Amino acid sequence: MAPFIFNTTKSLVFETGASARLAEVAGQTLGKSVLLVTDPGLRQLGLADPAIASLEAAGHSVAVFDKVEADPSRETLMQAVAFGRSVGATGVVGLGGGSSLDVSKLVALLLGSDEDLDEAWGVAQAKGPRLPLVLVPTTAGTGSEVTPVSIITVGAEEKRGVSSPVILPDIAVLDADLTVGLPAHITAATGVDAMVHAIEAYASKSANNNPLSKMLAREALRLLGANIEAAVFNGQDKGARGAMLLGSMLAGQAFANSPVAAVHALAYPIGGTFHVPHGLSNALVLPHVLRFNAPDAHALYAEIAADAFPQIVEVEGSQARCAAFIDALADLSKHLGMQTRLRDVNIPEDAIGKMAADSMIQQRLLVNNPRAVTERDAFNIYKAAW
Ligand SMILES: [Zn+2]
Repeated sequence: MAPFIFNTTKSLVFETGASARLAEVAGQTLGKSVLLVTDPGLRQLGLADPAIASLEAAGHSVAVFDKVEADPSRETLMQAVAFGRSVGATGVVGLGGGSSLDVSKLVALLLGSDEDLDEAWGVAQAKGPRLPLVLVPTTAGTGSEVTPVSIITVGAEEKRGVSSPVILPDIAVLDADLTVGLPAHITAATGVDAMVHAIEAYASKSANNNPLSKMLAREALRLLGANIEAAVFNGQDKGARGAMLLGSMLAGQAFANSPVAAVHALAYPIGGTFHVPHGLSNALVLPHVLRFNAPDAHALYAEIAADAFPQIVEVEGSQARCAAFIDALADLSKHLGMQTRLRDVNIPEDAIGKMAADSMIQQRLLVNNPRAVTERDAFNIYKAAW
């Protein structure tokens, strides 16, 4: 069997209402002076209040930094670091979507060591140590609570990443209570993103694709496929919400160790240039990339098809199963009310050439794709998606 390395978050707490007793769950880890990092919308909704109340009742001081934006900038990150330093933070809690969690990881790193951010970009450059770190996701999609990656926007639109096991948190807290208020369109887009993480991790050509990632990807697809409709159409369904959180985390563990590929590579130019949310960007190209991959990957897609869509178990033969899987994914996005074509999100047809060129920059993802993608191929995939 091929050698591999599998890293993940040391301690996982899955419990509805867990954030309201955060002091019991994570107080010892965090120390006396807690910096809580979140975004202004969640702060206003009061989503962090139970966590703050729990910590304060147990004698911790809590300083809140609530200025994290979508596609968080280096300026915001450095502001949070300065704030954390000014209050003498002993531990960091990130509470929010992928952006807040990504910022929290680097805040903990920069507060815990004198590391220079410019030395930390890239793979395995960040050395630490970091401050104690607890991540509490409020969307079911990114899996950021179990990935060693943080993406920050530098300058106008350059995205830079730090990838290092050092920024995996000490504890991830999955509390379905925090996701019940999420609007349907965000639930849909983030849920499909999680499914893409599982599909791409399973079929990844990465040399580190491994039996744990494959097993986790399949269970993730089972949970996500069975619960995404209930979570979108009845946001108050806590059973479905919890299952989505768990599925998204399992998909995160899978792709953190068996990285994603061309769906993500082709989604980045859509998000970067046209500011389409990450999950929707992925959904727009998903069926078209999988159809392109099918000649080389149909056997792999056929293996996982019935995990996400149990009715496919009736379909005989790997080619037919693969085709049914791709059609079911396309139908799912439509059924969940998502836009399904690039033109629906106001992308002009003549932007496709530049998007195809831009997607080629994502070689670190494209090398994991089951079928080699040229710029011409990317152009044709976008055309099909338009
Ligand atoms: Zn993603």
